[in-house]
Amino acid sequence: MAGSSRRPLTRWAWVEIDRGALRRNTRAFKNLLGPRQKLCCVVKADAYGHGAIECAKVMQSTGADMFAVATVDEGVHLREGGINAPILVLSEPPLETIPMLLEHRIMPSVYTSDFALAYGEYAVQAGTVGRYHLAIETGMNRIGVHYTEVLDFRRSIDFHRGIVCDGVFTHFATADDIDGWDYKLQRRRFDEAVAALRDAGMECGVVHCDNTPASILDPESHHDMIRAGIGLYGLQPCDATRSRLALEPVMSVKARVTRTTHPAMGEGVGYGFTYRVPRTTVQICTLPIGYADGLSRTLSNRMDVLYRGERMRQVGNICMDQCMVAVQQTPIHQIREAEYGDEMTIVGRDGDEEITMDEMAQLRGTINYEVACGFGMRLEKVYR
Ligand SMILES: *Cc1c(COP(=O)(O)O)cnc(C)c1O
Repeated sequence: MAGSSRRPLTRWAWVEIDRGALRRNTRAFKNLLGPRQKLCCVVKADAYGHGAIECAKVMQSTGADMFAVATVDEGVHLREGGINAPILVLSEPPLETIPMLLEHRIMPSVYTSDFALAYGEYAVQAGTVGRYHLAIETGMNRIGVHYTEVLDFRRSIDFHRGIVCDGVFTHFATADDIDGWDYKLQRRRFDEAVAALRDAGMECGVVHCDNTPASILDPESHHDMIRAGIGLYGLQPCDATRSRLALEPVMSVKARVTRTTHPAMGEGVGYGFTYRVPRTTVQICTLPIGYADGLSRTLSNRMDVLYRGERMRQVGNICMDQCMVAVQQTPIHQIREAEYGDEMTIVGRDGDEEITMDEMAQLRGTINYEVACGFGMRLEKVYR
């Protein structure tokens, strides 16, 4: 658990981050690349809930060439944590952030000439140049300059000596299906736009488009760099990638029992009594983790936790900061009753049993990305 130099956990619920797994996953992505191709590690949303600075340090020492974030604040946070590699913001931030971008050498994505020129003006005043990545809209309809308009766009900003194009990129909406028409169309549009820029003699810098699924499934589209996110954290973006690249989950979620009780038969548990004790042999255990920690209330009475390598059902409505678990004796299966301080696993492995982010995502009707981000928001993180 926590290293001895660390202050004690202030609460008996925490996220464990396996640095070794993170390093091996990062290496697995490096191994997909040729010697001249780069790895951009996506560490937005506090590294998908895993802790941006700690993770970026591991990735940097394992060969990450660049980091991508969602907000300028996330970039500044990395710089303040001692990360020196190039940092890219994956959308065009507000004009007001330009001084911060230049001060901290954080590259914006650019797709409006207003932003590009203001960025250039400020850079000239500050005696520097503003590097940026040109985002190209190829079909997702989220951000970027439309792929048919990149030449006009570049002609309207390239005169400015305060800006330099460090890269061009697009983002796939359907990279889990690389044989599909939608993916192929986005790829073709991107390749055409890049070719047009090159034919016109315009600097493209680092050309990149692959997220995790495209990186794994379509080696032909790596270009100069891949942008891997979810896979670094050991989570598969879709079923198609599962058999193609082995990854190890980095995050597990644990808690210790803070109270045990044996309510009488028929007693309710939690808000609204959505669970009633069916037998006197049911032990109700309280865990100090709730929906404000990422344990969605929609999981109430439907999820399991692991205790001594066995599945126990969570019972009653999940509260904001706590939830209850039933340790059930049956005539054919005797379990050692839980005690104050016993550890339970919310996500992760215990003996032969495992509860995955995917299992929880399936129960919630969402994707593993959202589950991991949720657990990162309030729980303390323990790095191993
Ligand atoms: C989040 C994001 C990624 C990483 O996607 P994963 O599926 O997690 O690999 C890459 N590029 C952009 C633009 C993103 O927003």
